[in-house]
Amino acid sequence: KAKDAEVRVLTLGLDNSGKTTIVKKMLGEDTQAISPTMGFQINTMTHAGYTLNIWDIGGQTTLRGFWGNYFDKTNVVVWVVDCMSVERLHESYTELREKVILEDRLVGVYLVVVINKIDLWQGDLEALQQRVVEVLDLDNLVEPEKWTVALASGITGEGLDEMLDWVVQRDY
Ligand code: GDP
Repeated sequence: KAKDAEVRVLTLGLDNSGKTTIVKKMLGEDTQAISPTMGFQINTMTHAGYTLNIWDIGGQTTLRGFWGNYFDKTNVVVWVVDCMSVERLHESYTELREKVILEDRLVGVYLVVVINKIDLWQGDLEALQQRVVEVLDLDNLVEPEKWTVALASGITGEGLDEMLDWVVQRDY
């Protein structure tokens, strides 16, 4: 992909998973004073010389029906999962499948599953990652070269640079 072209990234996931915090952190903004995403926000940033257009859409149930309006021309979906809400992992899988995988306008996009809030995770990271991949059924839902998993924290920022490296290195 030419460096002057834009990569369009859509951040999605359940409410409270940390989408807005991650976007703010990537933009170098304050992550303390944020409220749940209402409506949507478009942010532009650069990474390794590439321009990224990041769309942050509210994850509240009432807003999920509107997601489709933003899907056209998306290159990458960043699907955020809260590692501290394992009880919502199955809900996350259902939403991912219905709102992203089965969405005609998102056929062929790249998928980054961000396992967020790892600053709070006390257990084994490898086991956590395996569990998320398994419950989200990623091996069956998405072609192998089209997805990856990133362990990250929107608060400390760990994992975000590597995630963006992967994003800009894809073929669009
Ligand atoms: P959104 O609804 O998906 O946009 O989630 P927010 O970005 O509003 O985050 C929801 C809550 O989780 C907020 O209280 C954030 O401060 C907190 N949060 C988000 N990311 C992290 C993280 O990586 N680590 C920790 N400890 N808290 C986080």
